[in-house]
Amino acid sequence: MMRLPPFTYLSPASVADAARQMAEHGPAAMLVAGGTDLYPNMKRRQFEPSVLIGLRAVKGLAGVGGSARAGMTIGSATTLTAVSRHPDIARHYPALATAAGLVSTPQLRNMGTLGGNVCVDTRCNYYNQSYQWRKAVNFCMKKDGDICLVAPGSSRCWAVSSSDTAPALWSLGATVRLVGPAGEREIPVAGLYRDDGIQYLTKQPGEIVTEIVLPPAEDVRSVYLKLRRRGSFDFPVLGVAATVQMDGEIVRAARIVLGAVASLPREAVEAARLMVGERLSPDLIDRAAEAAYRPAKPLDNTDLTHPYRKKMTRVFVTRALRRLAGLPEAPEA
Ligand SMILES: Cc1cc2nc3c(=O)[nH]c(=O)nc-3n(C[C@H](O)[C@H](O)[C@H](O)COP(=O)(O)OP(=O)(O)OC[C@H]3O[C@@H](n4cnc5c(N)ncnc54)[C@H](O)[C@@H]3O)c2cc1C
Ligand code: SF4
Repeated sequence: MMRLPPFTYLSPASVADAARQMAEHGPAAMLVAGGTDLYPNMKRRQFEPSVLIGLRAVKGLAGVGGSARAGMTIGSATTLTAVSRHPDIARHYPALATAAGLVSTPQLRNMGTLGGNVCVDTRCNYYNQSYQWRKAVNFCMKKDGDICLVAPGSSRCWAVSSSDTAPALWSLGATVRLVGPAGEREIPVAGLYRDDGIQYLTKQPGEIVTEIVLPPAEDVRSVYLKLRRRGSFDFPVLGVAATVQMDGEIVRAARIVLGAVASLPREAVEAARLMVGERLSPDLIDRAAEAAYRPAKPLDNTDLTHPYRKKMTRVFVTRALRRLAGLPEAPEA
């Protein structure tokens, strides 16, 4: 059995106290919300904080407010179950409700939070292993080693962004509020990520995600589809989030974001550009799916083969856009 190492647990009552404690303890400290990713990572010695700053007792960090007309705010400590079942989120931001509802298992969604999901660690077959397993292969540069075992000549880590809600929030045009020692700021979800398997977040380690802000959703349609080995629970090996804003039958704005194909969610910019000003016809959907498939560059470091995952990008984007268009999932033979 893998055991947690000893650590000190602090339980601040306010965001200001949490930020102060993070600054006081520096690199020795980590934030913990639901702990569904952090504790297993600590058991495998991927994370070795000596101080944990728990967010569960922080007042005002959980809850959903606003409206689809004005835009909605979701406290970062809101559980994934609450996000997936919220009637306004399910109705007006279905990509997010679906993504949150497809994370892991019911038990983990009851503990796991939206903030933790947005910040969840990147994954790799050579990293998500016990300490003994990693030691047997002489570790890798993400933790305890020097080289990348997937791409030995590479100077960077290619671990995969594996959050379900990150591509959904990015496609919806959401922003995140951060509070840290230097004060408060709000950045687009698209600006929260960096293409590096180790330093995958742009936020400072001491910054706390306090809120996720969704823009107004009038005339907006969205969808999230997930490819994984087991339908009951598994991390995504491909996620496709697509959002369109419609002007009657015409696409006014579009955003397609792919999950689990790189170290950050990958926006398919060219595919969305093709769609703006057009009707969501089967022909347009085929062309957009072809364009969206190009930026997907999965490596051989997660479940299922990478050529298959790349091929499935086109299939899943087609399915997602057909759903947005109200067309049957597969074209008629
Ligand atoms: C068996 C299993 C299956 C899983 N399947 C999936 C899956 O299918 N899809 C998926 O997306 N995830 C999956 N997960 C990962 C995890 O359960 C979820 O990502 C969950 O949403 C993490 O939320 P949490 O609150 O538990 O985060 P925690 O584990 O508490 O924290 C995760 C990370 O986020 C940081 N953090 C947490 N809250 C904040 C905050 N407010 N501000 C700044 N940093 C913060 C922590 O320091 C830590 O680095 C799985 C995990 C397990 C064990
Ligand atoms: S991509 Fe390379 S460096 Fe990164 S976790 Fe995997 S093996 Fe390690």
